[in-house]
Amino acid sequence: MSKRRMSLKIKLIGFIVLLLAIANIGLGIPSYIVARNELEEKGKTILKNGVNMAISTIESAGLAVEAGIISEEEAKERVRGFLVGPMQEDGKRTLTTPIDLGEHGYFLAYNDEGYEVMHPTIEGTYVYDVVSFGEEEVYIVKEQLRIGRLGGFLEYNWHYPDSDNIGRKFSYSKYEPRWGWTVVATAYASDFNQAANNIMYFMIVLFLVTLFFIVLFANHYMDQVLAPILRIIHSMKKYEKNKLVKVEGIKKKDELMDLTNGYNQMVDSLQYNINQLKSREKELKKLAYIDDLTGLPNMNMMEEFVDRQIEVNNRIGYLLLLDIKELKMINSIYGLSYGDDMIKIIAEGLRHRKPGYKSLVARLGGNEFGIWINDDDEDLVLKWIEDTHQFWNQEYYTRQLDVRVGFSVAYVRNDELNENFERILQKANIAMQYAKAQGLNQAKYSQEIFDMIESESVLKRHAESGLENDEFYPVYQEKVSMVDERVVGVEALARWESKVLGFVSPGVFIPIMNKTKMILDFTEKMVTYVFKDFEGLTRKYGHEVSVSINISPLFFMSDNFVSYMLEKASEYKVPTHCIILEITEDILIGNLDKVNTRVKALRKAGMKISLDDFGTGYSSLNYLQKITLDEIKIDKSFIDHIVDDPMSNKLFHSIIDVINNFGCDTVAEGVETKDQIDIVKSAGCKVVQGYYYSKPEKLII
Ligand code: C2E
Ligand code: CA
Ligand code: CA
Repeated sequence: MSKRRMSLKIKLIGFIVLLLAIANIGLGIPSYIVARNELEEKGKTILKNGVNMAISTIESAGLAVEAGIISEEEAKERVRGFLVGPMQEDGKRTLTTPIDLGEHGYFLAYNDEGYEVMHPTIEGTYVYDVVSFGEEEVYIVKEQLRIGRLGGFLEYNWHYPDSDNIGRKFSYSKYEPRWGWTVVATAYASDFNQAANNIMYFMIVLFLVTLFFIVLFANHYMDQVLAPILRIIHSMKKYEKNKLVKVEGIKKKDELMDLTNGYNQMVDSLQYNINQLKSREKELKKLAYIDDLTGLPNMNMMEEFVDRQIEVNNRIGYLLLLDIKELKMINSIYGLSYGDDMIKIIAEGLRHRKPGYKSLVARLGGNEFGIWINDDDEDLVLKWIEDTHQFWNQEYYTRQLDVRVGFSVAYVRNDELNENFERILQKANIAMQYAKAQGLNQAKYSQEIFDMIESESVLKRHAESGLENDEFYPVYQEKVSMVDERVVGVEALARWESKVLGFVSPGVFIPIMNKTKMILDFTEKMVTYVFKDFEGLTRKYGHEVSVSINISPLFFMSDNFVSYMLEKASEYKVPTHCIILEITEDILIGNLDKVNTRVKALRKAGMKISLDDFGTGYSSLNYLQKITLDEIKIDKSFIDHIVDDPMSNKLFHSIIDVINNFGCDTVAEGVETKDQIDIVKSAGCKVVQGYYYSKPEKLII
């Protein structure tokens, strides 16, 4: 991280330095060049003027010689002394030039042969062929002599008099004809440029000083600017370790404040979202394993638990299913919330009555609870079931509940180690299906039960295809009047000749169909067949007969039942007073009001309602006070005993009496003997249906 911080800071500082350097160079170099050129021009003018002055000195000395004032030799020495300095003992002159030719500048002169005739150090030396230093070779003296004829400048490199350093030099040379001297003034460019160099040095110093302060300031400023950014980077690093930290706020109102505030807001909302996610995760976990309504473990948890017990702990155990029997009824009579309360109460009871600490109680859905018991002791299981039934009878009183709930319990023992929950549950479900079909309070899964239930589902599949292929048809059994032995009506009874299974009794397929919506299609078909046959039946008997149709509860309670019957009746021109609908007692339980409304509507339309199978179920005559029925059919199981059993005989008489008093017709079913006929007649029962008169038969036209 620090690497990146440095790089950003250094980049920014570097950029500032670069700008500063560009400004300095852009300003400094041109001014240096201008100054240098200007100074060089000035220097050159000084050299030229100096030489001109030297020549006029020679002129005037020459005049003095002509006038005989001094000798030529003396005059020359005076000129040398004046222009270069007096000769010293060491043969060198002191260099006291009358005009300033710069620190290292001086006058000199050659004669035409190329000897030094005036020079600070090497007077008298032959220098004609002296060559300059540096790459470009210049014959200095030769050139100066040549240029000097007209007077002019020469530029070349030469070493400084007091060192070996090479410097650029200028000279101005001019020929003086009187003595035949070529007078030269030389100077080093650097001497003239000194001021320009000073300017440059000053600029460099200035640059360095500003640079120092600017770097110092920029560093401090960058630290300030970068601090919030660095804090954000630091905080982001922490987030990599799943820590969310806000950064210190900024008071100055600028973009950095916006950035910091924005970042902190982002952290806030991130934190909020993370919290939301966490709590949702918790909820989901709960949802996944806990039942919402009861707080008990749900199917998922039970599956994991049971699978673990078998796989990991190699447990032999029992899976129990516990169904609340009357929940549907409770829901429809008392409302769903009452039903929910009931489930909660039961769940609470089960939670406190867990069968052993290694067991699990779960709600598997709707009205079903699952209990896993980690024990191979079946007596313990049975005892727990027994206790649970008793416990609930007790609860009913102590809690003063409106309804007494009952349970169906199905259980399965598992000792197979390669079994899993799903398959065990399937077995328990089969046992439960069996218990319900048989009206049992409890059932244990076995192979026989499995075979039975399986054959039921096979039958169901065949029935489905049988319905599509019109394998069902009605037969009719006559109802004979006891008054004149005339046929007053017929009951339509369904027959099924399956292409695969052969003849299947309605006692087998009707209960299976009744468990599914298949019964709706089936009943519609039956109604249609019977109505189609109505005309043929009338013709067969030569007078109008009633047709009785067995109507299953699901069809009777279906939404458009009444209008459906009316439409069909009018479609096939069946007078409604000839239609008798047979219903069974079980439909009345818990639904009395609803059924009554329907019954009223049907009776108003002219149809008759018959209560079938009286004597098999609750057989309560109380219904007669609450609902108006047209006919009651006494079941064969009752009729079977009226001849041999005096009690049954007596009961039969009184029942017929009561029914007759309600103005209801009575039909004795399953009458097979003359003795039975006699009793039925003597009891005042008006109609008989049984093999004694006729078996159910196909209508042959
Ligand atoms: P159920 O409505 O009580 O019909 C009377 C049953 O008793 C018929 O049996 C009939 O054949 C039989 N039976 C009548 N007289 C005698 C007799 O003297 N002796 C003996 N042993 N039996 C007699 P089935 O046809 O086997 O029908 C059985 C049950 O199947 C019916 O009982 C009825 O509950 C149901 N069922 C038949 N057809 C239909 C139908 O179309 N719809 C509905 N929902 N149920 C039907
Ligand atoms: Ca019937
Ligand atoms: Ca019956």
